[in-house]
Amino acid sequence: MFADIIIDIQHEKLDKIFQYRIPESLEGKLGPGMEVLVPFGKGNRQTKGYVTGLSETCDYDLSKVKEVAGISEKGVEIEAKLIALAAWMKENYGGTMLQSLKTVLPIRQKENAKVKKRLRLLLDKETGKRQLHYYLEKNQKARARLMAALLDDAELEYELVTKKLNITASVIRALEEQGVLCVETEQVYRNPVKQTVKETYKLSYTQEQEQIIRRFKRDYEAGLRKTYLIHGVTGSGKTEVYMEMIRTVVDMGKQAIVLIPEIALTYQTVMRFYRRFGDRVSIMNSRLSAGERYDQMMRAKDGEVDVMIGPRSALFTPFPDLGLIVIDEEHESTYKSEQTPRYHARETAVRRAQAEGAGVVLGSATPSMEAMYRAKKGEYVLCQMKNRSRMQQLADVYTVDLREELKSGNRSILSRKLTELMRDRLDKQEQIMLFLNRRGYSGFLSCRECGHVIKCPHCNVSLAVHRDGKMRCHYCGYTQPRVKKCPECGSSHIGEFRAGTQQVEDIVRDTFPSARVLRMDMDTTRQKDAHEKILSAFANEEADILVGTQMIVKGHDFPNVTLVGVLAADMSLYTDDYRSGERTFQLLTQAAGRAGRGGQKGEAVIQTYSPEHYAVVAAAAQDYEAFYEEEMRYRELMGYPPAENLLALFVSCENENMLEKGCHYLKEYILRVKGKRRADVIGPASPGIDKIKDVYRRVIYVKSADYDSLIVIKDRVEQYIEINSGFDKMRIQFDFNPL
Ligand code: ADP
Ligand code: ZN
Ligand code: ZN
Repeated sequence: MFADIIIDIQHEKLDKIFQYRIPESLEGKLGPGMEVLVPFGKGNRQTKGYVTGLSETCDYDLSKVKEVAGISEKGVEIEAKLIALAAWMKENYGGTMLQSLKTVLPIRQKENAKVKKRLRLLLDKETGKRQLHYYLEKNQKARARLMAALLDDAELEYELVTKKLNITASVIRALEEQGVLCVETEQVYRNPVKQTVKETYKLSYTQEQEQIIRRFKRDYEAGLRKTYLIHGVTGSGKTEVYMEMIRTVVDMGKQAIVLIPEIALTYQTVMRFYRRFGDRVSIMNSRLSAGERYDQMMRAKDGEVDVMIGPRSALFTPFPDLGLIVIDEEHESTYKSEQTPRYHARETAVRRAQAEGAGVVLGSATPSMEAMYRAKKGEYVLCQMKNRSRMQQLADVYTVDLREELKSGNRSILSRKLTELMRDRLDKQEQIMLFLNRRGYSGFLSCRECGHVIKCPHCNVSLAVHRDGKMRCHYCGYTQPRVKKCPECGSSHIGEFRAGTQQVEDIVRDTFPSARVLRMDMDTTRQKDAHEKILSAFANEEADILVGTQMIVKGHDFPNVTLVGVLAADMSLYTDDYRSGERTFQLLTQAAGRAGRGGQKGEAVIQTYSPEHYAVVAAAAQDYEAFYEEEMRYRELMGYPPAENLLALFVSCENENMLEKGCHYLKEYILRVKGKRRADVIGPASPGIDKIKDVYRRVIYVKSADYDSLIVIKDRVEQYIEINSGFDKMRIQFDFNPL
């Protein structure tokens, strides 16, 4: 037997795995993550390494393969635990061990050029001038040039100095050593509050909050580590509950990770944690440079931090004694990685917690089907919060049938009901949010008169309209010509469903000329911080109406918003994947939850061509249970997750012919491996976009109730494509239960 071992886990070039022979004395004793001692380099210096995997074959010259010297005596370090986690991720999500290692280990990188450095003059003008004379006398031209520049401008950008003034780093260093100047790094992220005043008052928790907190404490103090799913309506006080749970864990000397979708990682949220935990909190976000991220990770490892808040990647914070992982808004799709390994933070968190003796708390107003399914099966502890913390009522929701609007001659995107309510709010100087849940790249066809949507006869998802005039199913590849008339009612009012936020803004301005309107979408948020600016302008009541995409339903609390309009619920209802119902329900529920967060009761209007669709009906009634039941029936019937599991193989290649052939062989091979196992192989089909930058793409799906069967198939396919050089020109990626 041989062990794969990495020596250096700190550096960017973490890409070398060495193979060592396992001596008899260590057989059966090694596993991924274990720290070992190995001879390394020319002098065979005893060096620390980590086992990343075991194999029976060796890729190198056997006579040159060295032997593992022994197991390191020191206790298990955090890196070892993370490496073991990486091995699990490789196994469960596919890809290489190196890809997994790079995902979980904090890697020091060369300081990113994007980090701005500045030079600052430390001398006063007079001393500076004398220094300049001194350099000139000594004929030290570069130093003199820099000195002169600093006398003109006491702060200079580092890049400008090196590039424009042609001054080398060693000259700068020399002046730094002489105490003439200092080099400053602009801190991209700063602790938003220097001296935090810790909260002294204590909330009196609601009965629902109290119950969950007590349950958690009881379990935790008894040494039980479980996964809790908090299903709590928006504003029920979930964040307060998380903080109290974290308090429990931190008081025991342990640390906590809080995952929040980046979009919801707002100043408001962060401040709440600072107020509670002071500077023992650290924040991770995408604005940090690689170097800064590394520093934060090291602070966590060294015990300087108790709570790490951040998006998905913060899950791998190397805390020495992890006590709790909180995942807020657990249903968000951003918790699934889009790069190999395509891990899901929820499952990975549960795995990490299990290995390190920590608890997990998931929270959402609209739990994912996966989480609720597991909770109902008893894998997670289900906790409910049905009331808002300050007893505000949930909004009244109206559904408007857009087919009726058309029949009565209203062709505007604003229904009569919505227009009437908008007028009312503008009169009362209350705020309005209009929301277009636009998503997906391909349009679907629907009938404006009867609402009928053209679907795949085999998959029960909508067919996507392609430019070549055909309609295709992105699951099975079924194709048919584009229909001209509605097959249900014969109407020729059938078309692609498209509308943009820009158009909506124009219509709103036309209809209400005196209203102040803000728009938030991809176009208006391209600039850095634009996002935050628009939201805070709206929060400061600088506008009456905010028009936007799904971005606007998350994050900020707007107490003065009492009306929310969903302009076309159908836009997300008929995207071409099996999760469209779930996503629509979530978006509609969240949108409705935006109305009436302050004192007054809110109202929400859902406009749709499908008022009878269960996702719309359940969202309007704010009835999660009803939605879950119906959706689960559909998933079970069709064998979609979480009822069964789905493995997607994304295959891409520059040569379309070769791709077709490759997919054919892959499918044949999968069918052979599958043998008698209960699994369905579907496709190859074209994914949403079947060609990107001249690279053709296909997808093959394997569906099975048994996850382990899918892992076996993945492993065998990985071997198959490695042995067959025909696949060299193809890129094959695995995705388990894709979102
Ligand atoms: P969620 O995370 O469920 O949306 P939050 O924790 O953000 O809810 O709470 C919503 C609002 O209610 C916040 O302003 C919070 O400070 C407040 N709040 C939460 N719990 C209580 C409580 N027990 N008493 C009074 N206010 C509370
Ligand atoms: Zn029709
Ligand atoms: Zn189909």
